[in-house]
Amino acid sequence: MTRKIEVNNAYYEKEVQHLGEIIRRGGLVAFPTETVYGLGGNALDGEAAKKIYAAKGRPSDNPLIVHVAESKQVKNYVKRISPLEEKLMELFWPGPLTIVFPKKENIPYETSGHLETVAIRCPAHPATRALIQAAGVPIAGPSANISTRPSPTTAEAVMHDMDGKIDAVIDGGPCLIGLESTIVAVENGKIIIYRPGGITKEMLSDIAPTEIDKALITPTDEHPKAPGMKYRHYAPSAPLTVYVGDKNQVEKTISAFSKKKDKKYGYFVSKEMAELLPKEETIFIWGEREDKKALAHNLFQGLLFFNSHPVDEIIGEGTDATGIGLAVMNRLTKASGFHVVELNK
Ligand code: AMP
Ligand code: MG
Repeated sequence: MTRKIEVNNAYYEKEVQHLGEIIRRGGLVAFPTETVYGLGGNALDGEAAKKIYAAKGRPSDNPLIVHVAESKQVKNYVKRISPLEEKLMELFWPGPLTIVFPKKENIPYETSGHLETVAIRCPAHPATRALIQAAGVPIAGPSANISTRPSPTTAEAVMHDMDGKIDAVIDGGPCLIGLESTIVAVENGKIIIYRPGGITKEMLSDIAPTEIDKALITPTDEHPKAPGMKYRHYAPSAPLTVYVGDKNQVEKTISAFSKKKDKKYGYFVSKEMAELLPKEETIFIWGEREDKKALAHNLFQGLLFFNSHPVDEIIGEGTDATGIGLAVMNRLTKASGFHVVELNK
């Protein structure tokens, strides 16, 4: 049995001590963050890490992000912290930025996916920071979904995948950002983005020269630095094709599917696009076309919508890859198995 615990009640403060103990003793508790829901276990316990991989059905060479309650805890788990890394923590924590450090020996290889480095972040959700404090250990937490599926942004989505497999879920409501954290490493005074996310390249470039890991741009040529980027990810229940580029061409192309009768199409589109489609179609509206934050926020929920509204193929409308659009298009590229079609004037 998996217990669901509401954050919005007076008992949480007491309850969290108990949940912290479950983690410390090797159990699993899913927790809310500003990005997506995490599947938490004791990051210092290799056996707990193995349980996380088993619950998710995740390959064990795909490392876990370690969550701390405050930046001053980081030094206990990493060999060194550079001034630029200090600055990133100061500016963006608590928040959706994960930093890769050389790990100390107390981080087991099960947690680090057999790497000599460890990825650490401090999440913004107060209920989760209270959980980490109560546990008294850092918490390893990948997204709380079955591997290959879209990440959960509500406690209900966590229950759908994890009910019966973990001890508890803390229900902190829908996640604010809805996309996983930006993962970076600092190399020779430069910031390298391994995975785009809520903290954008534009924001990081204001601090220091920032580059995107080459493997993210040309995924076939180079081995990605963030190992998880090589796996199938975020796959919805039907094949997805995403259209981007010239607005008129996108509208024409997507509208044309509603006239085809060869199979049942579903649509993951902006409000403007939805207005051009027949009402009886299966449509998930991600927000207004210019509102990329809404697209980020609703992305995974939109992909999961087609679990309960089955279709043969999903036709998606994407966005341009600037600001948070870079992270959105990274997820949509993976969710579609690289079926992103760019339409020009
Ligand atoms: P998630 O899939 O949200 O659980 O995030 C975990 C991802 O973080 C992994 O799939 C990797 O891509 C990345 N990651 C974790 N630890 C490291 C590390 N030490 N070095 C590089 N990337 C890492
Ligand atoms: Mg994940």
